[in-house]
Amino acid sequence: MTPGAFRDRFHLPKGIYMDGNSLGPLPLAAAERLRRTVDEEWGDSLIASWNTHGWMNAPERIGDLIAPLIGAGPDEVVVADSVSVNIFKLAAAALIARPDRHVIVSEPGNFPTDLYMIEGLRRLRPEVELRLVERGRVAEALDEDTALLMLTHVHYKTAEMFDMRALTKAAHAAGALALWDLSHSAGAVPVDLRGVGADFAVGCGYKYLNGGPGAPAFLYVAERHRNTLISPLSGWLGHEAPFAFDDDYRPAPGIRRWRAGTPPILSLSALEAGALLFADVDMTDLWTASQALSQRFVERVEATCPGLTLISPRDSAGRGSHVSFATENAYEIMQALIARGVVGDFRAPEALRFGFTPLYQKMEDMDAAADILAEILQAESWRAPEYANRNAVT
Ligand SMILES: *Cc1c(COP(=O)(O)O)cnc(C)c1O
Repeated sequence: MTPGAFRDRFHLPKGIYMDGNSLGPLPLAAAERLRRTVDEEWGDSLIASWNTHGWMNAPERIGDLIAPLIGAGPDEVVVADSVSVNIFKLAAAALIARPDRHVIVSEPGNFPTDLYMIEGLRRLRPEVELRLVERGRVAEALDEDTALLMLTHVHYKTAEMFDMRALTKAAHAAGALALWDLSHSAGAVPVDLRGVGADFAVGCGYKYLNGGPGAPAFLYVAERHRNTLISPLSGWLGHEAPFAFDDDYRPAPGIRRWRAGTPPILSLSALEAGALLFADVDMTDLWTASQALSQRFVERVEATCPGLTLISPRDSAGRGSHVSFATENAYEIMQALIARGVVGDFRAPEALRFGFTPLYQKMEDMDAAADILAEILQAESWRAPEYANRNAVT
């Protein structure tokens, strides 16, 4: 695919947006879809819409749209809750599935919420141990006590990519289950959950899938576990017959049992439009285009900005769809860059992070963005006092 081939399907303000890995831009179809959901479905049809407009099965319907992007089959993906909550559900279920084991293996520096959720789980199950091991030593840390290997496929800061196939295999060889966080993978790089034999996965709707701010997350459970494990958040909409209003919980057959409460229909409408865009996208082609963009950007930045250090893998095949550069004063530099219309983000304490999204970025954007960065560094315009004011969200 040519970088920028889907540009006309997005509302893109002036400038160069390199933060689609954090919040995807607005698909025109999402705006249109939201208007329809508000006016016709909520406005006119009201409560009948749960039946007549497919509101009730939207989480599974959108799950089935996301499934091909991550190598999942039908009825293996559902959209629900946030990544954080889905991690809790799946990690707890993994511990129940491996009752004679008490260790969850992950890496230090994993995305904070992934680790925080396990901390919370440990308050309920104090015997559980969170074993954090450096990424090169993960396989050897798996042992007969390990219930779950929980890793983020593409690291949120460095974009380093784990070998999902090898590590899933290593987890299984140790008798453990494997949970992959695909927040920086889904819609960015090809993923083959079935092919690698993954047990569980979670991922974001609002990043590369362009589902809108706070879009619900997705959750994958391999078909072989789907009807044997039960969500610890056993809410009524994961019940076999929610409208029987029974006192006892009976899990629904299939992926629906991983739902808990009432789905957020407005958010789901936007996410569905975002996910539908990918029906016309081949993930291998998109990934090739993404690598072309990031290689161009890295080359140009390294040629013109000697003070920056690439902290992402140099080989584009070994990283996800963003890159980070370390520098002093990264916060101020990023603020100055945003003021010039090049939107990336700052990741504490030292990183300038840039995302690559071939749906709407063009090849020439890469040189233009790198040149503006070089100007800011040469002129030291980032020293202007207004760039030092720290915002709550960076
Ligand atoms: C963005 C991101 C999340 C976000 O979690 P939410 O609960 O949806 O806010 C989780 N994990 C990783 C690796 C992320 O990059």
